[in-house]
Amino acid sequence: MLSEVRVLHLEMSERCNAACPLCARTNVNGGGDPSLTHELRLVDLRSWLSAEVLESLSYVYMCGNFGDPILARDTIPVLRYLRENSRCKLGMHTNGGARRVEWWSELADVMNGRGRVVFSVDGLEDTNHLYRRNVRWDLLQCNFRAYIRAGGKAEWHFLVFRHNEHQVETAEALAAAEGFSKFVAKKSARFVNVPADSTGKPAVQPPLDPRYLNADLGRSESLFAAYGSREDWLERTPIACKAKKEASLYISARGHLWPCCWLGYGSVPGSRTDLDAFLAKNGGLEQLSLRKQGLSQILHGPAFRAVERGWSEGLSGGRLLTCAKTCSKELDLYRAQYR
Ligand code: SF4
Ligand code: SF4
Repeated sequence: MLSEVRVLHLEMSERCNAACPLCARTNVNGGGDPSLTHELRLVDLRSWLSAEVLESLSYVYMCGNFGDPILARDTIPVLRYLRENSRCKLGMHTNGGARRVEWWSELADVMNGRGRVVFSVDGLEDTNHLYRRNVRWDLLQCNFRAYIRAGGKAEWHFLVFRHNEHQVETAEALAAAEGFSKFVAKKSARFVNVPADSTGKPAVQPPLDPRYLNADLGRSESLFAAYGSREDWLERTPIACKAKKEASLYISARGHLWPCCWLGYGSVPGSRTDLDAFLAKNGGLEQLSLRKQGLSQILHGPAFRAVERGWSEGLSGGRLLTCAKTCSKELDLYRAQYR
């Protein structure tokens, strides 16, 4: 039922000013995929989101798999449209390193007490760029100051690595002094198969301080062993779909509707082999395109049904690897980032 959709995640853009080493955009298809240029436009969202959907939404946020929402042309017009046509709260996740201060002041005005911006700032002036490559501290600082000074609610999310773990307390104090309403030290779960940089060493390393380690990543090996192997665990672990629980949907920058951002990688062929294979068996990517079909048709179409059917099957019976990895009832690497 469309009236039951509560949360909408929008990938406004596939472009980014940064080049974080563990980001899908940096690594997909061998890196530098020239097709990653799509973005959502206001005119599309106006036609895709009916009054019924706008009415039912309680939260809409902009993040995405391949890009940063501050790069899209229509980010502020879309937020303004949502503010004027829905009672939903608004959110955005960004590296903060692009656009002029006037844009950030306008963003605060559009959020107008109904939203928050999460700034992903992984360190201080001397370290943030080691992971958020190409983000200039001076621009970032001007931008978050302009946004906060204009009345915008801001959170600072700090991804902890070995190269910045000594700065967590200082960054937390700085966040309070700068007027951020919240500071979160995030415990990444992405320290498996970290790509090497030009020196041949892993591009980033996990922190040494156990307070900053992802607890669920730490206990994954013993869980796999209890099942026999990681493959056996993926085959049988019970799944509780996060998207279903919060009644959320995801729209990729290419205009495809997905249950969640994790499956949304399927919008870019070659980025997830399980999703490519799933689409080949279940009607192809274009059946998920909001340019071809209405939201309701896609929601009740074969692909969404097949995803759901797969939760109670094994991998050979249609279970998606991504669903098992992301929404196991036994291991929640995503939520453990925030614990
Ligand atoms: S800021 Fe976000 S979208 Fe941009 S490269 Fe980093 S992780 Fe990817
Ligand atoms: S990965 Fe699968 S199980 Fe998890 S939220 Fe997405 S659709 Fe649901």
